Amino acid sequence: MAERVIPEQVRQRLLTTLTRQLGDAHVLTAPAEMAPYLSERRGLYQGQALAVARPGTTAEVAFVVEACREHGVPLVPQESNTGLVGGAVPQGGLVVALERLNRIRQVDPVNFTITVEAGCILQAVQEAADQVDRLFPLALAAQGSCQIGGNLATNAGGTNVLHYGNARDLVLGLEVVLADGRVWNGLSGLRKDNTGYDLKHLFLGSEGTLGIITAAVLKLFPKPRQRQVAFVGCRGAHQVLELFARLRAAAGDVLTGFEYMSAFSLELVARHIPGARRPLAGEHGAYALIELSSPDPAADLGGRLEAVLGRALEDGVIVDATLAASEAQGQALWRLRESVPEAQTREGGSIKHDVSVPVSRVAEFIERASAACEQALPGIRVCAFGHVGDGNIHFNLTQPTGMEKQAFLRQWGAFNRLVHDIAVAMGGSISAEHGIGLLKREELRRYKDPVALDLMRTLKQALDPQGLLNPGKVLPPAD
Ligand code: FAD
Ligand code: ZN
Repeated sequence: MAERVIPEQVRQRLLTTLTRQLGDAHVLTAPAEMAPYLSERRGLYQGQALAVARPGTTAEVAFVVEACREHGVPLVPQESNTGLVGGAVPQGGLVVALERLNRIRQVDPVNFTITVEAGCILQAVQEAADQVDRLFPLALAAQGSCQIGGNLATNAGGTNVLHYGNARDLVLGLEVVLADGRVWNGLSGLRKDNTGYDLKHLFLGSEGTLGIITAAVLKLFPKPRQRQVAFVGCRGAHQVLELFARLRAAAGDVLTGFEYMSAFSLELVARHIPGARRPLAGEHGAYALIELSSPDPAADLGGRLEAVLGRALEDGVIVDATLAASEAQGQALWRLRESVPEAQTREGGSIKHDVSVPVSRVAEFIERASAACEQALPGIRVCAFGHVGDGNIHFNLTQPTGMEKQAFLRQWGAFNRLVHDIAVAMGGSISAEHGIGLLKREELRRYKDPVALDLMRTLKQALDPQGLLNPGKVLPPAD
């Protein structure tokens, strides 16, 4: 399916049609020009494509899709190619790059919405909201380069999910080019609309397999006027979880971030990231990074946080804590957490997992999965960190010191099996926020409920009967 052979004549006819409509500059065929669109940034996948089309409007996207349909040529929608599961990597068809669809169409501060095209860089969306004194809360380390269409197509998560939800929760309306070239205009800014199926949710998180998102109406929020960041040391993950439950119950809506760092992940950051300093005097079993924020400038966030932390200290739930005294100190604490992936890369080979379990079972998961991995390969170093408030752990494994990197990476599949089996047995998921793409496609066959998988195939067949939209991604081929 993925490696469909396109006869040269068909390719030429398609390119002529596309070039006539988009212009030479926007149909790339030279290897050097195409190269950035062919491989994802981690280097796990190298793809190949007939060409790269760069439509500039929704109508042009529809034209490109219609032309592909006519010629029977598969296509891959692509934004910044920062996805981590190989979803945007082409396998022989046409790359449809959305980067020129980058207009902010409308900002409505009273409706608390912004209407953007798919190719807008995430940070540009945040800035446009900021200009009208509003917040667009989706935030991830790739925000300076990833594009909103990619975020929506992967239902991206990040560090603000605890309070604001995933990308999916931030969307009110969509404009989508369907596989037959029609445009579905669902750009509604309504917060209430119960007129049948909520179609936007089909496309959000579908990784380009059901349609091409060209624009979206996104929710905006009041801008926080103050925030309070703290870094806390605990004996272990169970205590971090206990602290989370106490804080959530006491602080409610103003708790906007709660991240976990294992002792080893902080050690790696301190070792490899220039300028990184341990924020607490001693070393502890596990750490939490906490953020409270509020649009109310008079809210006593510091007082609330100190009250909860004080009681937690008395009760032995935490061992030590520091509150950022300034915005700059708060940012420095966040940088520690955000630097973990880079620090891990510098330490050597890593095998990665992006799993979730019910929040109440995060500590138990870390314990069980760590023990299983350490037993399977003595010397392996578990580097667990992530969005504990969402039950989402980046359960990464660093190679044993002295082991050959490639020999370690060859065990990727075996460790996936071990870790995913444990997560799923605990009611969890094998992909919390990065999607399925190519990397986890075969895992779906093993872990997804067969009825759910069947429904997914039914939807794919209904919306893309020729199988031209991002073929080979997400859905494992039928047995
Ligand atoms: P691409 O990689 O180009 O595309 C991703 C997928 O969406 C592909 O399957 C593609 O075919 C499809 N697609 C793209 N555009 C469209 C469209 N318009 N219509 C339909 N389908 C489309 N993810 C998180 O969830 N949380 C994080 O905290 C996080 N942090 C990251 C940090 C770094 C440093 C990096 C490199 C990545 C991180 N990611 C994170 C991964 C995340 O999935 C991507 O960064 C982002 O959401 C993808 O955007 P993109 O524009 O690069 O899309
Ligand atoms: Zn993450």
